[in-house]
Amino acid sequence: MTGELAISGGTPIIPRPLPTYRDSSGRWLGEEEKQRLAQVIDSGCLSHLCGTQVAEFERRFAELIGCRLAVATNSGTSALHTAILYLNPEPGDEILVSPITDMGTVIPILSQLALPVFVDVDPVDQNMNPARIEEAISERTRALIVTHMHGSPADMDAVMDIARRHNLFVIEDCAQAQLATYKGRTVGTMGDLACFSFQQSKHLTTGDGGMVLANQDGLFGRNLRHCMDKGWPRERGGRDHLFLAPNYHMTELQAAVGLPQLPRLEAVIAARRESARNLDSQLQDVPAVHPLRIQPDRRETRFFYVLTLDLTQLSVDGAAVVAALVAEGLPCFLGYPGKVPLYKYPMIRDHQTFGSSGWPFTLPSARRRWNYTDALCPMAELACRESVVIWWSERLTADHMDQIAAAVRKVIGAYRR
Ligand SMILES: *Cc1c(COP(=O)(O)O)cnc(C)c1O
Repeated sequence: MTGELAISGGTPIIPRPLPTYRDSSGRWLGEEEKQRLAQVIDSGCLSHLCGTQVAEFERRFAELIGCRLAVATNSGTSALHTAILYLNPEPGDEILVSPITDMGTVIPILSQLALPVFVDVDPVDQNMNPARIEEAISERTRALIVTHMHGSPADMDAVMDIARRHNLFVIEDCAQAQLATYKGRTVGTMGDLACFSFQQSKHLTTGDGGMVLANQDGLFGRNLRHCMDKGWPRERGGRDHLFLAPNYHMTELQAAVGLPQLPRLEAVIAARRESARNLDSQLQDVPAVHPLRIQPDRRETRFFYVLTLDLTQLSVDGAAVVAALVAEGLPCFLGYPGKVPLYKYPMIRDHQTFGSSGWPFTLPSARRRWNYTDALCPMAELACRESVVIWWSERLTADHMDQIAAAVRKVIGAYRR
């Protein structure tokens, strides 16, 4: 009944390519975006300096999430860098972060010569495990970046409680969780700063782009906007540069494409969630696979759809399962951010940073010399080996869910011990 696996020459069970975030098959972009874009081009002003789109995008995105202050940037990584520049850590200061997130969460820490201290994840949702935070805190810890991974809100009550007791600044990385909620509160409104990405794969996209949201400015003597604008207090008139900072401006073109997507965002994530919950229930009785569990007090957005494999019940490893699923027509990969957690990439493991200095890992002013050893975060390492990460889209239908469930059943059936 299931037939031979496609990877062994059988017929793929998914007959046509699934919608993908990479083209119009998987995205809701259209006439309004084209019209606004044309208006900007006709105006001849493509920059926030003379236009109105970036300012409007900032105002309306902040309103949608529920924050007072917004600064648009040209990527999620630059939004996070803006946040770290705002905090202005001393070289050698430490910032807690999950090893399961995009490298864009860590690059800004290293760029400011601070140290990422990796806190292991909770296998239930692959978010930073609050029970592991306190043992990672030292007298040099300044801040904590909490990523809402796969669109699943982290346990913010627990995170904020620890952060407040230890006087840590909290940055929420909401790149994968636009409009997700935790106990009714929108993700991005619970920490001190929130960072978003509008890169091609995100729920709302401007190709590349980002945003930093906050409720309070100037906490560390710096204005948030100056941190992405060459340290330039333009509002005072004239030219001045108060401190070292890059230029991370979003263009009017990006904002024009982002604005029409705002009213659709709720529907986009609702569609992604509905499909995902359909698949959750279809896979309930399939042995050896477990969809990530969403806590009942959270409303997730489903950035990726993650299936955890019980490898003890299978005759092959995770890579073989993924290869077989891909052959059946399901776009997926093993582990996020890849087969290994972030600290095993050469950038961090081999100290590939500033020339041959090894800074910040070897900084004399750091508390110790930083090396990231194999056993650092066992749960994260296991998650990378066991997770089938499926690309998701708001254009997936109930039919697609039947096809995906059939593909999973077919592959697991063939590889079951
Ligand atoms: C996408 C992403 C980033 C980085 O955003 P870019 O726009 O790609 O620079 C950071 N963190 C997470 C969790 C992401 O998914």
